[in-house]
Amino acid sequence: MLSRSIRDDFPALDRKINGNKLIYFDSAASTLKPKLVIERLSNFYLNNYANVHRAVHTLASESTQMLEYTREKLAKFLNAREEEIIFTSGTTMSINLVVESFVRSGMLSSSDSVLVTLVEHHANFVPWIRLSKLHNFHVDVVAPTGRFGELKIEDFNVKKEPKIIAVTFQSNVTGQVIDIEKIREKFPNAILLVDGAQYIPHKKIDVKKLGIDFLAFSAHKMLGPSGVGVLWGKKGFLEKMEPFLYGGEMIDKVGLDNVTFNVLPYKFEAGTPNIGGIAGLLFALEYLEGVGFENLEEHIKKLTQYAIEKLSKIKDVELYGPLNENQLGIVSFNINGVHPHDVAHLLDEKFGIAVRSGHHCAQPLMKILKTQSCLDVFPNSTCRASFYAYNTLEEIDILAMAINKIKEWFD
Ligand code: PLP
Repeated sequence: MLSRSIRDDFPALDRKINGNKLIYFDSAASTLKPKLVIERLSNFYLNNYANVHRAVHTLASESTQMLEYTREKLAKFLNAREEEIIFTSGTTMSINLVVESFVRSGMLSSSDSVLVTLVEHHANFVPWIRLSKLHNFHVDVVAPTGRFGELKIEDFNVKKEPKIIAVTFQSNVTGQVIDIEKIREKFPNAILLVDGAQYIPHKKIDVKKLGIDFLAFSAHKMLGPSGVGVLWGKKGFLEKMEPFLYGGEMIDKVGLDNVTFNVLPYKFEAGTPNIGGIAGLLFALEYLEGVGFENLEEHIKKLTQYAIEKLSKIKDVELYGPLNENQLGIVSFNINGVHPHDVAHLLDEKFGIAVRSGHHCAQPLMKILKTQSCLDVFPNSTCRASFYAYNTLEEIDILAMAINKIKEWFD
């Protein structure tokens, strides 16, 4: 397990919530932030901050250097080129950028089809569905056939290879890690866009080895600030794509009749970026490198398997997902006959445990879970406990104890 001293970096873990020590199991929504990241960010804002890329003065060049260093770092992190790293406001914007730019560039038209899955977060579902209606391209939807919402490679049984496949690397509801390599093998020619919002915080990946074309993720799920994220895309595609936002920085020449665009990646970075957010992402990445991505993954695997083992032993509690080593960092569950919002509320009020309850921005998947559920759970909704570097096995013991108590109260 990771050393206990990591917990000292997260002062929120010393807070008392309704008389109990906080147990933070909502990292899949957003992680806590380490003191060191906040201190470095505060220092950056206090001493080095200015707008980037424009002025020639010292603070402007320090800020610009920081921003470009973050890009360089991310490029190394993913094994990509620097000009392929685009700063966005988060996964949602990264995916919207790709869909909208494809349409504007005529790279997605009525003869094209896109494959998405029912396990997607709305961020990788709604843009495709909505823009297919507005621009008349076709969307096929792959439904998971696993007992508890797991997606299998056999589920991708379309007749014709789609132009684009948009799929998540990891479900934010079940924690399932999707086998992207197998998808690539099965569809060697499709443009493969991967939603990495959940997976990138857990494991270092190599975009070249995976053979993917686009990757989106957010800083706030990996110890960084909210409002900043990344789109990585293959240079060949990015060069052909029309910009998503127009304004300053993304232009080369501006005339009354014509505008020419800046080179990559600036063509996709109109306006003042989230400079502090990008600095925070850099500091978070450096913090995670200090922890070690392999140690982090190992730690989260142990927590997840332990939680599956503990919670699956509780009668009348149903778990969703593969329930094996293919499930990482997330355990979704319901108590038979108890509304998940009531469970989440009681966990907070009586035990200081923060979990998420609801449809987790994945309504299509929740509908499937409901029909597959063997329990009498009425809403399209689950409780979700999610883990990160600072969580411990003892906290999972407390969660199991708390669930047992809540069950007793509702008996
Ligand atoms: N995709 C997945 C799998 C997610 O879990 C989330 C957030 O929970 C998103 C996309 C959207 O991320 P953001 O809100 O940071 O844009």
